[in-house]
Amino acid sequence: MADRVPRMLFLMSDTGGGHRAAAEAICLALPDSFQSQAMLIDFLAEGSRPPFDQIGRLYRPTVDYAPLLWAALFRFTSSAMGLRASLALLERVSGPGIARILRNHRADLVISVHPLTNHIPAQILHRIVPEVPLVTVVTDLATAHPLWFCPDVDHCLVPSIEAQRRALRAGIPAAKVRVAGLPISPAFTGLAKKRDHLRQALGLSPDRYAILIVGGGEGMGHLDRFAAALDNCGLPIQLVIVAGRNERLQARLTKQTWNVPTIVYGFVHNMPELMTACDAIITKAGPGTVSEALAAGLPILFSGYIPGQEEGNVAYVIEGEAGAMAPTPELAVARLRAWLAESPQTLLTLSENARRLAHPRAAKEIAQILLNIQNRTGAPPQGFTARRLFPKGS
Ligand code: UDP
Repeated sequence: MADRVPRMLFLMSDTGGGHRAAAEAICLALPDSFQSQAMLIDFLAEGSRPPFDQIGRLYRPTVDYAPLLWAALFRFTSSAMGLRASLALLERVSGPGIARILRNHRADLVISVHPLTNHIPAQILHRIVPEVPLVTVVTDLATAHPLWFCPDVDHCLVPSIEAQRRALRAGIPAAKVRVAGLPISPAFTGLAKKRDHLRQALGLSPDRYAILIVGGGEGMGHLDRFAAALDNCGLPIQLVIVAGRNERLQARLTKQTWNVPTIVYGFVHNMPELMTACDAIITKAGPGTVSEALAAGLPILFSGYIPGQEEGNVAYVIEGEAGAMAPTPELAVARLRAWLAESPQTLLTLSENARRLAHPRAAKEIAQILLNIQNRTGAPPQGFTARRLFPKGS
């Protein structure tokens, strides 16, 4: 039997941009031959019954315009009863689809980078192909939802001590849990020395502080109000605004007239370059953006956070003295004014603190852990043989 490169299947969903970014970061850190075999599947879009296949599209408006509803949902589904109810619903709407995905793709190793792809895939894999390991890679920095933690997965890689505590409290055996950092693109390492070149290439002025304004992959968090306040505050700044997949916001901001030099982007694929070139970031507390900003040494001003899952990210950065909370445009301007007025050392100290909190090599370490697991398990000679994952008529 000729050697074949084992297939890794990443289960995720585009609820926000962080899950895909984490999976892609791990993929990029794998050897080329593994990358070409790896698969990334949005289980909600590709494997859930209507209308649940639309959840990815509904995520941003729900979180942006009904944060209290989201907070209530997060709290309820975190309780024992809510957790049972969520899993029962998930099994109904996504179970057969996830089974189909697992059957069709015949992976040798399954990696979950989403809170909703742990319990159900674990049940299915254990029933049908127990030799195929399931690894959870938690992509919430601290206050991770209990749905992330399924005692039946083979390994659970967490980004922080707080997340580790939660995993253990949820009943995952200690031997399965490992603190590995939150995976960010390997492109974030080694860019600092190209900073001047990057600033020039991006068309940034050398004489003004560059402030990056981001709202996750979906352009959440009313970026327009923060941008308008900064535009009118009289500080020696320039703005780089990333509207992500929020096309309406991008169109509106592009048409706007600005007092200070301003660049507006939609969804970008060069976040490492943008972060390296800028001097500070205003963002919601998305774990991906926070981890990347820390690696790029960017002081962080938090415009807000998604209730529940992002709360711990704010505390992580503030306790590490790498940023501050500024939930209104006025507070953001006041805090930035204070940072810039204090002394040139202030931004530098914040930047050094940020780098100290960062785990820029997390994706590489996680990739190595996955390769070790794969080596120990060994790829089955033909990939696993498909059997019925769900009984007839399910
Ligand atoms: N991102 C990107 N391009 C964009 C906007 C965002 O690549 O135009 C990436 C960003 O770098 C980060 C992820 O999307 O890796 C956002 O993840 P985060 O956890 O911060 O927030 P989410 O979108 O999941 O709420």
